Amino acid sequence: MNLRDAFLKGGGCPVIDAHAHMGPFRSIYLPEAGRDSMVAGMERAGVEAIIVSPHDALFGDTREGNAQMLEAVQACPGRIYGYCTIHPGYPRETAGELDRYLHQPGVVGVKIHPASHECPVDGPDYAPVMERLEAERGLLLSHTWGSEGTCGARKMRVIAEQYPNIRLLLGHSCYGAWAEAIALAKDFPNVYLELTAAAHVYGLIEWMCREAGSQKVVFGTDYPWFDPAVYIGFVTFAHIDEEAMRNILYNNARGLLDEQLAKRK
Ligand SMILES: [Zn+2]
Repeated sequence: MNLRDAFLKGGGCPVIDAHAHMGPFRSIYLPEAGRDSMVAGMERAGVEAIIVSPHDALFGDTREGNAQMLEAVQACPGRIYGYCTIHPGYPRETAGELDRYLHQPGVVGVKIHPASHECPVDGPDYAPVMERLEAERGLLLSHTWGSEGTCGARKMRVIAEQYPNIRLLLGHSCYGAWAEAIALAKDFPNVYLELTAAAHVYGLIEWMCREAGSQKVVFGTDYPWFDPAVYIGFVTFAHIDEEAMRNILYNNARGLLDEQLAKRK
């Protein structure tokens, strides 16, 4: 049976979602935002593990949100991994938050959102994060969007050049600036394309695999915003071979996770 039919019958292959959130979001009702309902949704869709940054960490009180992240990671080991969120508007908090969380089992990297936080990704308020991750060969999920702006492809290229040891996930793959994002993943061994929102663009997954290789494409959904089953469909209905599907859905994220987890043992 092919992988697509296996998923339709409730089987398939293991899946890791490297771009998930958690908890309530201002002004939008997300019915599955609680931890237990997220785990139930993962069961339903066949998702083995997710890496989360709670909404509160990104859009509310970052310290409170990071505490929620650790609580979820500790409650669901092996199912929920966490990103420590850094808010560049509070630069004096950065070192403390990194110290508090980055060594914790199950906290596998850092999440930043330069667009919402209105701070250029290559600016001084992010530099301590970048330097720390560079030294530790850490994992970074950055929101990225378009070509210009605080975290467009142009600035992400500066980061990729300056910090070759950061395992850099381009969240949303610089949405819209596809050619530039794909070029980044092609040009830099440690830069990966992440599929949240991008996956629905017809033919894009094929383009990414053709140009950058399926080893550079990582599954992510913004769950609980979007149902992981739909995103699994985007991958398994793409015109790519099954090895590429398995790389995207699992193998690439597994490799990145295992590398970080090995350091925290
Ligand atoms: Zn997101």
